[in-house]
Amino acid sequence: MTTTPHRVVIVGAGFGGLETTHRLAGAPVEITLIDRRNHHLFQPLLYQVATASLATSEIAWPVRHLMRDRREVTTLFATVSGVDADRRAVLLDDGSEVPYDTLVLATGARHAYFGSSAPSAKPIRPSARRG
Ligand SMILES: Cc1cc2nc3c(=O)[nH]c(=O)nc-3n(C[C@H](O)[C@H](O)[C@H](O)COP(=O)(O)OP(=O)(O)OC[C@H]3O[C@@H](n4cnc5c(N)ncnc54)[C@H](O)[C@@H]3O)c2cc1C
Repeated sequence: MTTTPHRVVIVGAGFGGLETTHRLAGAPVEITLIDRRNHHLFQPLLYQVATASLATSEIAWPVRHLMRDRREVTTLFATVSGVDADRRAVLLDDGSEVPYDTLVLATGARHAYFGSSAPSAKPIRPSARRG
């Protein structure tokens, strides 16, 4: 008798999504890793790219390449628009769906100022500037 493997869908290939995928190595599951970007972005090094000490290619790695040795992982370059929890399906913005048994939402966070507008950037004091 063949049984269908447990289907895990992970939305987001950031730190959370990649760590979850990593920890599931060897588990009897089929994983679908979905991200709206085709690459993982290593955010802590954004400052170094902004100041030109690193190239963008050094902090952005294709998700497919990161998962190249994981036969049980399917990577999907798509934007998730919703979840139908009753039918256990992730909804994509192109109208298609991805069924799951277990869903991991690792889509990151956004800043919020509780209804206030974002604080504006402060100008650098002339005395703090290099001459
Ligand atoms: C400049 C900067 C410096 C930082 N420095 C540090 C540091 O030194 N140390 C530290 O611990 N942390 C640092 N952080 C914070 C750290 O990067 C975040 O906490 C971490 O990236 C959060 O991981 P995450 O997986 O929750 O989300 P993310 O890494 O943001 O990943 C979320 C993923 O979900 C995808 N996604 C979102 N919505 C959808 C959707 N609808 N459909 C499909 N995909 C979607 C995104 O494309 C993204 O790839 C820094 C952050 C920044 C911006």
